[in-house]
Parts: sequence; structure tokens; C-alpha cells
Amino acid sequence: MNIQVKAQDASAARPLAGKVALVTGSTSGIGLGIARALAEAGSAIVLNGLGAASEIASVRDQIAAGFNVKAGYSAADMTNPEAIAGMITATLAEHGRLDVLVNNAGIQHVAPLDRFPVDKWDAILSINLTSVFHTTRLALPSMRANGFGRIINIASAHGLVASPFKAAYVAAKHGVVGLTKATALETAEGGITCNAICPGYVYTPLVEAQIDGQAGAHGISRDQVIRDVLLAQQPNKRFATVEELGALTVFLASDAAASITGIALPVDGGWTAH
Ligand code: NAD
Repeated sequence: MNIQVKAQDASAARPLAGKVALVTGSTSGIGLGIARALAEAGSAIVLNGLGAASEIASVRDQIAAGFNVKAGYSAADMTNPEAIAGMITATLAEHGRLDVLVNNAGIQHVAPLDRFPVDKWDAILSINLTSVFHTTRLALPSMRANGFGRIINIASAHGLVASPFKAAYVAAKHGVVGLTKATALETAEGGITCNAICPGYVYTPLVEAQIDGQAGAHGISRDQVIRDVLLAQQPNKRFATVEELGALTVFLASDAAASITGIALPVDGGWTAH
């Protein structure tokens, strides 16, 4: 009796043991938080993203040693379809499967539409949207063959509503939500789900770096910047955390979420309830 209970506890603690997850843009911020959460749940991890080789190697080592899983890394540039193909091929060659694909890599640029730099538009569409098409189309054959797959797209509240000066980002994230629905419909009978997570503001080093600068620029306190500038649209007046997004991703990757597909789930403290 006790032995059975212990076995259940072990599988509950590591519900993704035996799975392989690839997280694009996981060298920092939300992607890294999600990679850690998936590793803690027992999944092997393939990291991806930009950054200093020594720092990436250290993150890899921490994940592998800390959670007792395999942790690899691909330097594939999400603007380059051939590099993306190489990343998927290498993942399948090394692990023999790809169960959980988290499309998280993304960039932002803020400018009025009539002065929006064309190269920034192209880069945002390429990294935030087109890369999701490439990773998804390339991962699907193996997921279909295994009869199991979880595709989790990190969109944004800006996949559901717009803000001024973020034309490319808003267009790309709305595109991700549309692609999520199309993918869900095409895979619905194959044991594969595809969902989008739509965060509002999430506390990452990138956000922290803006707080003091904004406080200086507006002549207001850090607390006022957080409440009245950064979280002006976010009714609960708190940042979501990478840990919350990690836990949600683990849930969507689990067997418990087998019937959830094609959704765009806001994690935005009520922003899109407006
Ligand atoms: P971040 O800048 O900390 O991380 C972005 C990741 O993408 C990094 O690992 C970076 O190396 C990688 N990346 C950028 N360009 C790349 C390229 N060409 N090829 C491969 N990797 C590349 O940002 P974040 O805040 O963690 O954002 C992650 C995702 O979450 C993005 O898609 C973003 O749009 C979305 N998001 C963030 C917030 C937020 O408040 N931080 C809110 C909503 C949605």
C-alpha cells in the first residue's frame, strides 16, 4: 500500500519524466523560467536563444544538475528557417522525440506606425510569428508519429488587444493566436494540443531594467512607475512571475490538459477583461 502511494507521489512530482521539451528564447526571462519548470517536472530540455556562451553553459549545467535531466542547447537564430530546421533535426537525432514545443522567443520595438522602421517590422514578424510556423511544421511529423504533442505559444495580452506604438508586436502576437487556433484544429485528433498563453506584464530582468529609468524620466517613485506607468492597464497592479508561467506551461504539457486546445489564455491580472 505504502509503496504504491510513494510511486504515485513520485510521478505526481515529475509528471513530465521521459518527455523532451524545446523552449525557444530560453536563455533569459520567461523562456528560462519555463525551461526550469519543465525540467523540475522531469522533462529533458533543449534551450535556445542568444547570449554569452559561458553564461548559457552555466545555465545548462544548473538545469541538468539541479533537476537531474538532460539539458542541451541550440544557438539557432529564429530569423533563419534553415537554422530552425537544424535545431529540430538535432533535437530529434539526440533524443529520438520532441514532446513539448514552447515557442517563446520574441522581441519588441516601440514606434509610431508611420515611422516604424521597416527592418524592425520584418525582424518582429520573423522572430515572434514566422519562427512559430517553422518550429511547428517541423515538429509535427514526429509528434504525429508518437501520438502525443504539446505546442505552447507564448503570445501576449497584445495577442488579444492592442496598444499604440506597438504595431508590429500586436500584429505578430495576434498572428500567433490565429496560428494557435489553426494548429489546434489540424491536430485535434492526433493526441496533440496547441495553446497560447497571453501574459500581461511579467517581472523579468528586462522589466526591472526599465523601472529606475522611467522613475528618473518621469520624476516619480519606483512604486509609482510600477503602478501608474508599467501596470497602468493591469487591474491587479502586480506583475505576473516567470514561475507562474512555468507552472501553467507544465500544466498545459501534462496529461491533465489533454482536452484543452486552441485557447488563448490571458495571464494578465484582468487587463483583457476591460
Ligand atoms: P527576454 O528578452 O528576456 O527573452 C527573449 C528570449 O528570446 C531571449 O532568450 C533571447 O535570446 C531570445 N531571442 C531573441 N531574438 C532571438 C533570435 N533571433 N533567435 C533566437 N532567440 C532569440 O524577453 P521575455 O520578457 O522573457 O519575453 C519572452 C516572450 O514572452 C516573448 O515572446 C515576449 O513577447 C513574451 N511576453 C513577455 C512579456 C513581459 O512582460 N516580459 C509579456 C507578454 C509576452
